[in-house]
Amino acid sequence: MQSSTNKSFLATPIEYLKGVGPERADILKKELEIFTFGDLLKLYPYRYIDRTQFYSTQHIDNTQTFIQLKGKLRDIKELGEGRARRLTATFYDADGEIELVWFQGVKWLVKSLDSKETYVLYGKPSWFNGKLNITHPDLEKLSAYTAEDAGTFRAMYNTTEKMKTRSLDSKGISKLMITLLAQLKPEHINENLPASILSKYKLFGRYEAIKNIHLPATLALQTEAVKRLKFEELFLIQLNLLQLKIIRKREAGIFFEKVDHYFKNFYEQALPFELTNAQKRVLKEIRKDTLSNKQMNRLLQGDVGSGKTIVALLTMLMAIDNNYQAALMAPTEILAQQHYAGLKELCEKIGVRIELLTGSSKSKHRKELLADLAEGKIHILLGTHALLEDNVIFKNLGIVVIDEQHRFGVAQRAKLWKKNTVAPHILVMTATPIPRTLAMTLYGDLDVSVLDELPPGRKPIKTVHRYETQRIGVFDFMRDEIKLGRQIYIVYPLIEESEKLDLVDLQNGFESISRAFPLPQYNVSIVHGKMKSENKDFEMQRFVKGETQIMVATTVIEVGVNVPNASVMIIENAERFGLSQLHQLRGRVGRGAEQSYCILMTTHKISADGKTRIKTMVDTNDGFKIAEVDLQLRGPGNMEGTQQSGNVDLKIANLATDGPIIEEARKAAIALLEEDATLDKPENAALKYYLQHQKGSNSVWRNIS
Ligand code: ADP
Ligand code: MG
Repeated sequence: MQSSTNKSFLATPIEYLKGVGPERADILKKELEIFTFGDLLKLYPYRYIDRTQFYSTQHIDNTQTFIQLKGKLRDIKELGEGRARRLTATFYDADGEIELVWFQGVKWLVKSLDSKETYVLYGKPSWFNGKLNITHPDLEKLSAYTAEDAGTFRAMYNTTEKMKTRSLDSKGISKLMITLLAQLKPEHINENLPASILSKYKLFGRYEAIKNIHLPATLALQTEAVKRLKFEELFLIQLNLLQLKIIRKREAGIFFEKVDHYFKNFYEQALPFELTNAQKRVLKEIRKDTLSNKQMNRLLQGDVGSGKTIVALLTMLMAIDNNYQAALMAPTEILAQQHYAGLKELCEKIGVRIELLTGSSKSKHRKELLADLAEGKIHILLGTHALLEDNVIFKNLGIVVIDEQHRFGVAQRAKLWKKNTVAPHILVMTATPIPRTLAMTLYGDLDVSVLDELPPGRKPIKTVHRYETQRIGVFDFMRDEIKLGRQIYIVYPLIEESEKLDLVDLQNGFESISRAFPLPQYNVSIVHGKMKSENKDFEMQRFVKGETQIMVATTVIEVGVNVPNASVMIIENAERFGLSQLHQLRGRVGRGAEQSYCILMTTHKISADGKTRIKTMVDTNDGFKIAEVDLQLRGPGNMEGTQQSGNVDLKIANLATDGPIIEEARKAAIALLEEDATLDKPENAALKYYLQHQKGSNSVWRNIS
């Protein structure tokens, strides 16, 4: 079925393409890793230039992306100074005019633009101050506008400086692509999607898609080509993830036969409150998994404060009731300690032994701990990454709970599965909600539970934005809150714990706070990542006990810290924080019955994105909405915690904007696997072959015979 001529055409070394030769081939290899014809075809355009028609200035609106105009310039003016320096001009044709603006290259443009010339303009209109304008348009003299440029819908390619020196700019690549596509025949391209999927989702065949992504005659053809290739990319990811899920479900898991006295005693006697309906529902889902004879792999999504910890504890008690041990892993030492402090008391009430293991556990203590653990004398082991080490051996580990999980990669999760002969159940809990499309791609191999309800009696946190110049008012507010018996966090940004400057900011902040809130009336704590863990712990404890009213800290307090009496969160230089971090930090307050506040302090210099982040925080407390904005602002690759997943490095699809295609691709993958889980039906043979031979693939089909 796979003819060898197909393969050999795509595998032809790039130097054999007319117009390439050894020298340019060398550059293509070094700069873009293009070795073969097939590699060149996979260099997708980043945008297109539509030169198929000229618009009239009368017909411009802001729905168009890029447009082409023909006309002349007048009123070429230099305005402003320094950073505000810019060049403006009016572009006009027979029907009307539009304003042009440049912020860069002003000096050169002033000299070269000529009001006597007729130009062909190419650019993107947008609204500015209630008027349409075009920023940084491409201008070409009509006299230089060649037949080659006219009437085309041309793909643009990203290239490098070095490539440009050998005329391998976008135009150069285009020429090569045209040469290659003239030789490309349908039989050179193997279709990898089953015919039924192509027809059901009305997708282009692979050959058509490849041709039209590079050389579309119309916008419509380009759109279809892009859609097909995005679908393919996302569909293959979904197949891999879902296949992983199927494989796991085939293997035996630990059976938690009963819910017995630990669980029941706790539920009836020690549980400090009534569970929310969402918590009850999630526990039922977990119970079902642990009764299924299969390994549980569940993601628990819940906004800050939704009560994930108690769900984790009750789940661990299920394991203990069945003579298994449990592990609870936290991303930071402070959080591990906080969990320990909170859970120890609850556990002791019902005779459950819980111990803490972190990087800073003393070696004698660690030895004893590990010995007890191996003998099964410890019910719950709580800790940081230290739990992953090979010398941490359980007698019979039944469940692992990973808190604030998106700092742990898939590989780390896998390490935990090996801590028992039968893979333990896994419950991962996210610190911040993840937008649905992202969750499907990052955690598509997990089942998902959502805690979509906050415990009763919580008052929504009031969030405000204050400038540096309003600090006196903020201090007054702090004094009032302290008078009411509340406590306050003040957080400083610390991007890298090693950044000396940030630490100086923190120290200065601490000193000025200490001056404004002097002893003996006030006590101020300070905590940062550079402190020894005993000192950190000591300061934390002073704050937890209410001995200090103000906690000045870096983001080390970001995750999970729980002091219900703290009702004010002040975030300094809030514009420097990402949205998920801001949301996490804010989640440290609003944990008690009192009205809580979050004050975002900034200077007057804030970027557009920074403004959007601050506004989003002021407008909403909903973690899912915030995560969605974060995804739009930063893109999936830069969102906190997504970096470990290879699945965000997509070649053509975009997890922030291709939500509908992701949904479709997942649906299609589920339907296909329901019919043919091993892809052994003849109509799926090409797909299976493709998955097994994908370059650099981590396809699980490799492991399936
Ligand atoms: P998160 O989901 O952010 O980890 P926690 O588990 O830390 O949230 O819970 C936040 C706070 O809410 C804790 O003080 C916890 O004791 C309390 N809590 C959890 N569930 C309930 C409930 N059903 N009713 C009242 N308070 C609850
Ligand atoms: Mg938590």
